[in-house]
Amino acid sequence: MEEVATFEPIPAERVEYSQPVVEETKERGWMGVAIIRLLSLLIVGAGVYYSTEGLVAMLVLFILVVPVEKLFPRHRGQKVRRPLYKLDMSYAMSSPLLNLVGLIAAVIVALISFAWIPGLMMRPVVTQIPSEWLPIVGFLLFDFVSYWTHRFYHEIPVLWKFHAIHHSTEHLDWVSGFRAHPFDGTLIAPAFAFLIAAGFSPEITGVFAIFQIVLGLLLHANVRFRFRWLHPFLGTPEMHHWHHSNEEEAIWTNYGAAIPLWDQVFGTYYMPKDKRPSIYGVDEHIEPNMVDQIMYPLKGVGNPFNIVRHPFRSIKTGLKFYWNLMKQMKWVIFRPRGMKPPM
Ligand SMILES: [Zn+2]
Ligand SMILES: [Zn+2]
Repeated sequence: MEEVATFEPIPAERVEYSQPVVEETKERGWMGVAIIRLLSLLIVGAGVYYSTEGLVAMLVLFILVVPVEKLFPRHRGQKVRRPLYKLDMSYAMSSPLLNLVGLIAAVIVALISFAWIPGLMMRPVVTQIPSEWLPIVGFLLFDFVSYWTHRFYHEIPVLWKFHAIHHSTEHLDWVSGFRAHPFDGTLIAPAFAFLIAAGFSPEITGVFAIFQIVLGLLLHANVRFRFRWLHPFLGTPEMHHWHHSNEEEAIWTNYGAAIPLWDQVFGTYYMPKDKRPSIYGVDEHIEPNMVDQIMYPLKGVGNPFNIVRHPFRSIKTGLKFYWNLMKQMKWVIFRPRGMKPPM
């Protein structure tokens, strides 16, 4: 890691995804485009070869969600074959492999974060909680941790580069939730390690994680229902669509997935009654293919073999990065309520 993150504004230039192939070939030439396509295909192939779970999940969502989207569309005229639907399907099919890569990174991050030490210290307190309350307390804590992880991924520029991939989709539907960088979410690992070390069972924590992932996929659906009566208690597609909205008043809002409680508590809840979200996407230019998207946040990180070649220098850079990250997390936690990113 050569580059150290600084808090710089997120670029405000808006780029349309019109005719991506033409733009791509102009910059790269046909040969370059062919290589990128081949590499993407290899990732998808390896993903399906490793496990067909992604493919099955995609088919289940297609069968369950697409008919509802057709009958009650939120954005009328948005087709199943909307721009870049193949890209999101590629992410879906590769998801078991991408998740495995993410899991390996998460285990490493969890170990070196040392979050399990305060977790072990909290263990005597957790054992005092009556067992029938444990799942509820565990759920609220898990959601709290997800809220803050998600918020850090938005408000710290170096982390945003990872999460921007998920937000780069300009069309929300049954398959768009799959588009995510394998390291998007890795930062939740220390909190996971903390909860498990504190005595919350890995099974319960795992169930919450799976629940969050499944719900998370459904929240992207292009459906008309607002589920107004659910707004105060539960995450809804309306809430998550606002989260994806690129309209200024909606930026840095609605980080919660399962429940809106922590958004309400920490001042990031945004659910206007007289408006509905309409523009999604990000301001920066992100290439519309999987290979470039996976590399996008890793640009400038430097050659990974530098860890072997210059171990001490790498440790120093790593520590500096870690220190900077801590400083920025503190900034995010204490920033004024209702603040918007510098434009
Ligand atoms: Zn987000
Ligand atoms: Zn999303």
